[in-house]
Amino acid sequence: MAPSALSSVQVVVRLRPLNEKEQQHGTLPVVSANTAAKTVTVLKGQGSRQTKTNFKFDNVFGSFSTQQEVFDATLRPVIRDVLSGFESTVFAYGSTGTGKTHTMEGSLDDPEQFGVIPRSAAAIFSELEKNPEYVSSQVSCSFLEIYNEDLNDLLVSKDNQSPKLSIMEGKNGPFCRGLTEVIVQSAEDLLELMRKAQQQRQVGETSMNKQSSRSHCIFTLKVVAKRKLSDGSILDSSGKLHCCDLAGSENAKAANVMDDSGEQQAARERERMNINRSLLTLGRVVSTLKELSQNPKKACVRIPYRDSKLTRILQESLGGKCKTCVIATISPSVTAIEDSLSTLSYASAANGI
Ligand code: ADP
Ligand code: MG
Repeated sequence: MAPSALSSVQVVVRLRPLNEKEQQHGTLPVVSANTAAKTVTVLKGQGSRQTKTNFKFDNVFGSFSTQQEVFDATLRPVIRDVLSGFESTVFAYGSTGTGKTHTMEGSLDDPEQFGVIPRSAAAIFSELEKNPEYVSSQVSCSFLEIYNEDLNDLLVSKDNQSPKLSIMEGKNGPFCRGLTEVIVQSAEDLLELMRKAQQQRQVGETSMNKQSSRSHCIFTLKVVAKRKLSDGSILDSSGKLHCCDLAGSENAKAANVMDDSGEQQAARERERMNINRSLLTLGRVVSTLKELSQNPKKACVRIPYRDSKLTRILQESLGGKCKTCVIATISPSVTAIEDSLSTLSYASAANGI
């Protein structure tokens, strides 16, 4: 079966509402979303010196958008593809506090606030149960963190981390050796696993000084199934959905941290360069794929997968018949305007404009 017709690379933007603190300070929103026109407008400066910048995307979600709407427009259409054996990847890109984790995971205790990961799992299990063609199936997941180009297994407690994970070249391309794959029987099973992983990360965080905002996390759902077709034949399929909560994009900027010691400064600088390189590489990979999907004749261009671990691990899941979606998250607040402009420029560049 061919993958669904949806464009193979989508770049969308999600604007979060002003938070309580911003509202209390009487902060004005300077970013607005026009969902019908699929544009985002940023107002900068005041009076006669005010400038207005418009950005256009494949889709735009305003501050009132629901978790359901975001899922329906981004991942719901690719669930069928994953079940038929294709791979799909969704990235959340944006500065810290703009809603990346809200969009990916959401609140794991309130179904209304579930992000795209729990919603995808529910849709996958529901289809496997409902559709009599699936005579057998197995759903498993893994949770990988890339911090400073080191790989950590988020399904294993920090104290029990086995020798370092590494990227190996397999016959189907690069893969992460030693990464735990846990079989899940239901969407509820998966929620439980994610809750544990969240706690795990929070425990690590106090000692590691908010590592999570400086690391990329890849949550992968793998679906292996046997389908009985109408002619009686059995078709084996193995599909994957990768959901990446990227490092806060502000960490890629040059920082002027004066109060750190020289050693700390050097470590921060190394972190910054790693984040900067992986986010830039991802942007280039996505824009190249978008260009290829619109102009397949350009098939000879080199896609720079190997320039970062993030894109190298996902190499086999980006391009070809795979679907890719970037969700760029932004704050409407005037206090975040530089980060918002930077995220919107990144997303526009990824979109090939
Ligand atoms: P990030 O992962 O990008 O650092 P979070 O997802 O943790 O940001 O979001 C920061 C805060 O803002 C959280 O309390 C989250 O619940 C809230 N938030 C983010 N996006 C939205 C949204 N679209 N609607 C309502 N609350 C949101
Ligand atoms: Mg987060």
